[in-house]
Amino acid sequence: MRLSFHGAAQDVTGSCHLLEAAGKRVLIDCGLHQGSRALNLENAEPFGFDTAAIDCVLLTHAHLDHCGRLPLLAKRGYKGPIVTTAPSRELANLVILDSAYLQEADAEHDARTASRIGAKAAPPLYTVLDATNSLHQFSQCVGYEQPYELAPGLTATFFNAGHILGSASVLIEAEEGGRTRSVFFSGDIGNADRPLLQPPRTPPSAQAVVMESTYGDRNHRPYGDSVEEFLTAVAAIFSRGGNVVIPTFALERAQELLYILRQGIEASRLPAAIPVFVDSPMAISATAIFERYPDCYSPAVAELFRSGKDPFGLPALHFTRDRAESVAINQINGGAIIMAGSGMATGGRVVHHLRHNLARPECGVIFVGYAAPGTLARRIIDGAKHVAIFGEQIQVRASIHTINGFSAHADQSELIAWRRRMSGIETTFIVHGEEPVMHKLAAALDQGRIEIPALHQSYEL
Ligand code: ZN
Repeated sequence: MRLSFHGAAQDVTGSCHLLEAAGKRVLIDCGLHQGSRALNLENAEPFGFDTAAIDCVLLTHAHLDHCGRLPLLAKRGYKGPIVTTAPSRELANLVILDSAYLQEADAEHDARTASRIGAKAAPPLYTVLDATNSLHQFSQCVGYEQPYELAPGLTATFFNAGHILGSASVLIEAEEGGRTRSVFFSGDIGNADRPLLQPPRTPPSAQAVVMESTYGDRNHRPYGDSVEEFLTAVAAIFSRGGNVVIPTFALERAQELLYILRQGIEASRLPAAIPVFVDSPMAISATAIFERYPDCYSPAVAELFRSGKDPFGLPALHFTRDRAESVAINQINGGAIIMAGSGMATGGRVVHHLRHNLARPECGVIFVGYAAPGTLARRIIDGAKHVAIFGEQIQVRASIHTINGFSAHADQSELIAWRRRMSGIETTFIVHGEEPVMHKLAAALDQGRIEIPALHQSYEL
């Protein structure tokens, strides 16, 4: 058995691991490197293995940093199946097509800039056509904890990872030379105490573990405190007569906020008639997918579905898919909640809403996710007095709130507990984190051999 790391190695994004066992080559995830534009060059680099020789791809979940290079893999010769859970297949199709549109738009923009200075621009990493072609390879869906035979003597079992809808950790077991070897790939690990999803599951044992480490150096604020902080901020902004703008990621966070708002209304913390706008075509499509898988949720949410209630439904919820409807929201001066992408305000409809609301002291902006340095969200969070939006200087007079406890990733104590639940672990490979964070997690994990693989590094197991 041979394991090699071709992404998210001493890095947070671009997950891509190759396992060679029982005569087969299995790829676990094929994600995009994300962050700055410069990373696009890294995405176009060779994968570090023969793409045509891969027998099967297993996808842990639909986030772009786990599935975003699948069209490129197909374009470069991969012809086999992409195996994942049914909700992940639907969400990944949405995410991959959206990524292809963005790749084409960025390439067009670069080509215009390059032609002005007589330079040559890079083509898109993949086009919408490439992406559409690769979607046909999502030919096999698996259920949780049902072993799937990849080949005689080689099985993959998906365990609920509790990170986003459909997310999984994958156990691969191979019979070689009369004995069974196993590796457990964490994918991204969720939190145990979240309202929507079930807690992460693990097999009783595994010989090797490949685990993520995004928040391996810190613990989150308790979830209940974050919900409280969120509802208090919304109520305070409404009492001043302003709008609430929430830059939000389309997958999971938007739906979780709808669920929290619904609870706030039921507990009479918020007025029932508050208009809530989900101004993101991708969040709208994702919410429709979420509603098709009632059994994937926590018992409380599944019960709501069973009794015919919509956990994401609110009395005055408006989904705005059209551009014209989105622009019409600008006419509302106060008393509305506006959720729109992108989460880091690097683009998308939320930038327009910030332009209309940031300078008004009665309004408020609530950030609910990570914001990378250099992004508009980060500048506002860091206390900028004014920011440039579409070439115009906008004063920041709205109240700014940052709520950190809504992360979809396990924190350090949960990562340690997750690994402790399995026995017989000989080697732990730490991936998917910033390098200093990985070392802090390695120091906190007290059992067995621990490796922090470099990009393209291989190990015999
Ligand atoms: Zn993820």
